[in-house]
Amino acid sequence: MRISIDADKCVAVGVCALAAPEVFDQNEDDGVVVLLDATPGPEQYDAVQEAIIRCPAAVIRLEQGGEPERLGEPGPRTEPGPGPQADPVKRTEGDGGA
Ligand code: SF4
Repeated sequence: MRISIDADKCVAVGVCALAAPEVFDQNEDDGVVVLLDATPGPEQYDAVQEAIIRCPAAVIRLEQGGEPERLGEPGPRTEPGPGPQADPVKRTEGDGGA
């Protein structure tokens, strides 16, 4: 697995460093994420996933097999179809029944 970060988007919360301290650290001055290991071993996968899911700014990107994988984000939205249209009900007034 290969990890990349977009440090410009980092809001310095530090959840990544807590979740995967062998992969992420924070800059001492401003708290911005520092990538310690861009190609961690598979034993770090769960910790990295946790960091990605918990990162509030979607800073961390995990790439596997050349395809970027964004975890913790909702999938593509699909527009709902037109669905069944209710037939207008004709109402007649005046009879009132009985
Ligand atoms: S969790 Fe995300 S926003 Fe927080 S320090 Fe890490 S990369 Fe930056």
